[in-house]
Amino acid sequence: MPGQKIVELSATPIPVHHIKELGKVAFGDNIGNQSTEWLVQARTDGGLEGVTIANRFMQQFNGFESSIGTVRGLVPLLREVFLGRRVDELLEVSEGRVVGVREAHKKTFWAHGWMSILAFDLLGQEMGVSCIELLGGQVRDRVRAYDTTFFYQDILNPEMGAGQVAAEASASRKHGYTAFKLKVGRPGRWFAPQAGLERDVEVVTAVREAVGPDARIMVDANFGYDGRLDLLEDFIRETLPANLYWMEEMVTADLGDYRVLRRTRDRLGSNALLVCGEVDTDPPSPVFVDLVKAGLIDGFQPDCTATGFSRWQALEEWLEPTGVRSVPRNFGNGTFGTRAELVFGAASQTFLMLEDERFRPAVFADDDVSFSDGHYSTPSGHGLGLTVDTHRFQREYSANEIVIR
Ligand SMILES: [Mg+2]
Repeated sequence: MPGQKIVELSATPIPVHHIKELGKVAFGDNIGNQSTEWLVQARTDGGLEGVTIANRFMQQFNGFESSIGTVRGLVPLLREVFLGRRVDELLEVSEGRVVGVREAHKKTFWAHGWMSILAFDLLGQEMGVSCIELLGGQVRDRVRAYDTTFFYQDILNPEMGAGQVAAEASASRKHGYTAFKLKVGRPGRWFAPQAGLERDVEVVTAVREAVGPDARIMVDANFGYDGRLDLLEDFIRETLPANLYWMEEMVTADLGDYRVLRRTRDRLGSNALLVCGEVDTDPPSPVFVDLVKAGLIDGFQPDCTATGFSRWQALEEWLEPTGVRSVPRNFGNGTFGTRAELVFGAASQTFLMLEDERFRPAVFADDDVSFSDGHYSTPSGHGLGLTVDTHRFQREYSANEIVIR
């Protein structure tokens, strides 16, 4: 039986809201409390409705001269790749599993990974299985998520200082989270170097106190220790009692600096994993291949939806024998990203934890996924198991829908 045909697509900017204002980060100013989910919907002649987000494409805006990052570019891209195509002519399937991308779509799905997720969603629905099955089958029935909302909250509330981050971590713990990622790297830009280091250490120490000994605490410097490996050594030494679970992007990926970092970590007796690579937009770029080969990193972080399921499948095949874990970044991917990473993580042998931005619910209908004790349960629905709340969509967002027929 021939597969269903895609007969209509649309793109809609959906505002999504954080549970609080997010502060500064090593390289930039306050994140704020809102971002945009560029929802892409695809409908078939048999009534299936698949979803993805085009955030990576739309965030690459570089002026109106270029079509990248504009609706003028997005519409023809969606039309060319999906409109009039059959759902079963996008991905290679063998024994119920997706094993690759059809030749005609390989280049596009590699460059625009989020498109492969739409192909997975539609195919899963057509086959009547979850994308977890298509990705190789369930390896865990709950996926641990970490709260990633701890930016420089101390600068938002200077009187509280590090105590502000600790208070928010404590509230998050009460909401059921058991893993917390804290932005560090203050020496780089917003503080004098020594004062920044001291605040980084205070924040880590205060959060450990607030969340108890069993929680996982990760830190992410967004390269804030570049050029200051001396201060980074102090940071590692002084946070040893907090038993960090991973250290992310403490410095820019570089073989020499990671040799020093790895050696320092080992000499001081830290067990923190070294993870990086969220900035890799063409993964794996040569420097990350070298870092993996040299055994200098423990986790690799290309973005979940920008890289997409198909390209991540290929990355995992490469990573698995090396022992390096998959830690897809998920920041800026809205509520869709949480679901995409949940599905990916449920099927991935090498997956560590889901990056959770804790957006308030927006355009998607409630379903059977629940959160407790730091973990999400997995969806039972077909495809991604994600459906748009059509009433809410019509009422609040459809005025901005761009329809492609
Ligand atoms: Mg990061």
